[in-house]
Amino acid sequence: MRIRSVLGGRVPDEILTPHLRHRHDRWPERLAGRRVSGVDAYGKHLFLRFEGALTLHSHLRMTGSWRVYRDGQPWRRSRGRAWLVMRVAGCEVVEFDGPVLELLSDGRARRDPRLTRLGPDVLGESFEEALFVRNLRAEDPRRPVGDSLLNQRIIAGIGNLWKAEACFAAGIDPWRPTGEVPDEEALRVVAFARERMSQSARDGFEARPRAVYRRGGEPCPRCGTPIRQRGQWEDNRLTFWCPGCQR
Ligand SMILES: [Zn+2]
Repeated sequence: MRIRSVLGGRVPDEILTPHLRHRHDRWPERLAGRRVSGVDAYGKHLFLRFEGALTLHSHLRMTGSWRVYRDGQPWRRSRGRAWLVMRVAGCEVVEFDGPVLELLSDGRARRDPRLTRLGPDVLGESFEEALFVRNLRAEDPRRPVGDSLLNQRIIAGIGNLWKAEACFAAGIDPWRPTGEVPDEEALRVVAFARERMSQSARDGFEARPRAVYRRGGEPCPRCGTPIRQRGQWEDNRLTFWCPGCQR
C-alpha cells in the first residue's frame, strides 16, 4: 500500500485539516511531532496509528478516497474537498470527501464495535484462544512472529512495546517465522501480554515491563547478551530482542 510506504515510520512535516468540519478539532496540534507507527487497512477502513496512543480512523463509504501526490503534482479533486492533508517525504497524502474521519484514542479504537473484523481483543475479559490461533495460522507463515502479533486482524491491541516484551518474556525470538511457532508458544506470548497489559491498564505506565524495549545495546537482564534492535517485515516496525536467550 502506497500510503504505508510513504507515511509508515515517519513524522509528518505538516498536517492540515482544510475542511470546516474539523476546524475545532486541533488535530494538527494534537498530532504534531508524532511518528506514524502503523497504517492498517481493513476494507474501506483505514487506521493511521500515531505514537502516543492516537489513531486516525477513516472510512471512505462510496465517495471518499485517499491519494498520494508528489510535491507539486496537481490534485485530481479540488482543495475544498480535502479533509486531511499530510505532508511527508516530498509527498502529500490527502483524504478527499471522507464521510468518516475521526481521531481515536487507542483504547477507543480497540473497543469500537464497528471494527468487528479485528482479531480477539488482547484485553478482552474472555479471550478466544481458538480464534486467535486460527487467525495466526491464516497469516503468511514466513512473516516473523513478532510482526504477526502486530496484525490487528490476528489479535487486536498489541503494540510495539508489548510485542517486544511479550516475546522476550516467553523466550521466543520475534524473528522466528510464524509458521514455526507452535500454538502453545504463541499462546504463552499472548498470556503474558494479557496479564501485564491489564496490570498496566490498572496501575499505569510505570507498570510496563522494560526488559528489552528501546534497550538496544544494553545487556539482557536474563543472560547479559547485548540486546539487538531491527525493523521487521513490510512496515519495518522496530523490534528488540536478545539473541542469547530468545529462540
Ligand atoms: Zn538474554
